[in-house]
Amino acid sequence: MTGLDRAGPVIVLFRRDLRLEDNPAFAWAARTGRDVMPVFTHCVDEDGSAMGAGSRWWLRRSLVSLDRELRSYGGCLKLCAGAAEREVPRLAQDSGAAAVVWNRRYVEADINRDRRLKARLKADGLQAQSFNASLLFEPWTVKTDVGEPYRVFTPFWRRCMAIGASEPTEAVERVTFVRGLDSDAIDHVIPHRGGEVPSELDELWTPGAVAARARLKSFVADGLEDYRSRRDLIGEDGTSLLSPHLHFGEIGPRQIAAAVAARDGSDSFLRQVGWREFSAHLLYHVPRMQGENLRPEYDAMPWRDDAETLELWRRGLTGYPLVDAGMRQLMRTGYMHNRARMVAASFLTKHLMIDWRHGADWFHDMLVDADLANNIAGWQWTAGCGADAAPYFRIFNPLLQSSRFDSEGAYLRRWLPELANLPTRYLHAPWEAPQDDLSAAGIVLDDTYPRPIIDHSVARKRALGHYATHIKAR
Ligand code: FAD
Repeated sequence: MTGLDRAGPVIVLFRRDLRLEDNPAFAWAARTGRDVMPVFTHCVDEDGSAMGAGSRWWLRRSLVSLDRELRSYGGCLKLCAGAAEREVPRLAQDSGAAAVVWNRRYVEADINRDRRLKARLKADGLQAQSFNASLLFEPWTVKTDVGEPYRVFTPFWRRCMAIGASEPTEAVERVTFVRGLDSDAIDHVIPHRGGEVPSELDELWTPGAVAARARLKSFVADGLEDYRSRRDLIGEDGTSLLSPHLHFGEIGPRQIAAAVAARDGSDSFLRQVGWREFSAHLLYHVPRMQGENLRPEYDAMPWRDDAETLELWRRGLTGYPLVDAGMRQLMRTGYMHNRARMVAASFLTKHLMIDWRHGADWFHDMLVDADLANNIAGWQWTAGCGADAAPYFRIFNPLLQSSRFDSEGAYLRRWLPELANLPTRYLHAPWEAPQDDLSAAGIVLDDTYPRPIIDHSVARKRALGHYATHIKAR
């Protein structure tokens, strides 16, 4: 039993922790023995980075799922349209709450908001407490020997492994809820803002903690053992597809670590989860990374301002099948395979010399797993200005990547049906196919499928030239 200074229920603020299992704030509230009031507040202006269409689609459904789960325990989720800083103190006062608890977030704007909220609640005489639900290692707990944050992944992860991941929070056995809560309508809390929504979300995804646990279970049973050898094979379903569930906290990394512990394949899989930890670590310690280059020596890069080409890239019309397949997968499913993300991002920044921020914005808007830290770190890593041990002259060759990681063309055929009938040997570079093969496959170059918008070797030479001149110039 947790001691509280005054009578009243405990408010649990849900944010990116939309689950009841391994949720330390919820578990703490339940253990007080007080009635619990589960609350979700949302306001576009308050959110550090406004959510894109893919994320809004997901969040609405995830909240419905959380409410359903709470109802199975006899409670429900109170939805509030408005800024937490305004709504929560008001709710606390109206309900006579004794405490407000939540799980921590690590983006600068959220940290500052939480700090102010905590101070305000304490000034009002309430207990306000926060916990860790979303990371294995909170950013301030992992430091180099001289007490600095890490800038390179491998030593960071080695250090994390030496510390060791903590166990999931003990299960909640008994909880009582505040009765008769009224709620704002979900359309009011997460309004439709218009804009493009990926077209096949309903067919592909099931948001919510129940689906997240089921996905983890089936991945551990069928995918973990071969994860290392299959994770880059872009035409196979060799990865866990847990990223949107992790982003919204429908499952936590401690649950994942516990589920894979001591099984074949766990090291390689946890290492990828480690990249998520590393991205959060970087953005926490260098918040300016949200909009600026991690390495300032890249600030002088002469990015090209070319809205027309950017639009061709967004629509998957560059003429490079692997780039286009990735971008079409994104537009249809709100997701893109990691290998395709790297190739598409490299193509935008290095072949087209377009600022990584334009690419990150498009990903942020479309991805169902849009995550500020992972997205920014992924883009900066690929553009060369981020935390990458490799030098800038690594430029992904989209043709080699395609033939290496999708050798039979399963991924290309799936997302580019207009190329589906082309023999595999020409699929990766359709413009090199003989006219007879193109005709037999029903392809008319520049009509049914574009020729490359830029020649690979020309683009590579230009990028190397720009990078060499402008990075050295600093
Ligand atoms: P799995 O291979 O099954 O990996 C398990 C989990 O580990 C993932 O769910 C994810 O949480 C984490 N993870 C794996 N790879 C990475 C990585 N490179 N960086 C950080 N975390 C990782 N991931 C996001 O979750 N949100 C983003 O907005 C995002 N944007 C990206 C942008 C670019 C340009 C790049 C190159 C990568 C980006 N990633 C992002 C990382 C990665 O592509 C996805 O996490 C991964 O494809 C999700 O698929 P999965 O769940 O099947 O991954």
